[in-house]
Amino acid sequence: SVKCYNREKVIKGEKMIYISKDYVNDTLKWDNKAAAHCKDGEIVVFETRDCYDNSITSSERPLGDRSDALSNPVTGALYVDGAEKGDILKVEIRDIKLRPWGVMRSSNIGGVFHEKYDKREAVIYSIRNNKILFDDVLELDVNPMIGVIGTAPEGEEGIPTITPGKHGGNMDCKKITTGSTIYLPVNVDGGLLSMGDIHALMGDGEVFICGLETAGEITVKVSVLKNIKLPVPFLYSGEKVMTIQSAETLDKAGDMAAKEMFEFVKNASGQSDLRTGMLMSLLSDMAVCQVVDPLLTMRVEFPLEVLEKYGYKLP
Ligand code: CA
Ligand code: CA
Repeated sequence: SVKCYNREKVIKGEKMIYISKDYVNDTLKWDNKAAAHCKDGEIVVFETRDCYDNSITSSERPLGDRSDALSNPVTGALYVDGAEKGDILKVEIRDIKLRPWGVMRSSNIGGVFHEKYDKREAVIYSIRNNKILFDDVLELDVNPMIGVIGTAPEGEEGIPTITPGKHGGNMDCKKITTGSTIYLPVNVDGGLLSMGDIHALMGDGEVFICGLETAGEITVKVSVLKNIKLPVPFLYSGEKVMTIQSAETLDKAGDMAAKEMFEFVKNASGQSDLRTGMLMSLLSDMAVCQVVDPLLTMRVEFPLEVLEKYGYKLP
């Protein structure tokens, strides 16, 4: 692809800011350097590396080609002009372009089946015409998603990019995809938005340890919301709104996500606790995002159109 360092590019008539994959971090932190600035409402392209820092290029070398490879690098940070602590960043995902290949690697320490593997093995998969060539028999449709997307968290020490949390991070939610909108907290001036860890395909749970890990270009529109309350990280995807919460257990993450959604639905619909609880039981879906990161992640989905009937408008 075109080598381009944080220059503005015009793609299909639209002016965009471009952050190349030379600008990466393995920690989301208040003092991460801004790789680029944008204004409210601008379009930004993040060129990302894969979660192995693009170091695994052959199944012959599953440990990778470089000893200095970062773990789960994100591209960034993007400083959003005018974003201040307490605001919310609205990030609309316009496009996810995939590299023509992806990689998966086994782990003998993480993942639901890790006892089955006594060493790390990698397989490289071709991605052509939105299809993954799994083997001679099976072709799979891609469903691109962003594994890590987040802002600088609260606190001095930052949060490694392998860990999900209130700032977003490694949520590994397959609903964070083209056409969806993620709402993230602004904890420091500029927000410091970063993203990476694209998966060409992943099932809910990410049970093996990874998705089909790949690199690419993510195009987003970034806006600053002032004086808006949302239970961030918050997602709009496929006509549904979603709370996404991470904790030491799925039980706790699910409980947190459901309670966040309860308060949101109650405020948006104006219903009583009793009626809100009933609506939640009738219409909300709980789902597992991932069970393999240092914290486990669940989401609770609720149909937006129901809230719109009560006059709610998603910002
Ligand atoms: Ca991930
Ligand atoms: Ca990943």
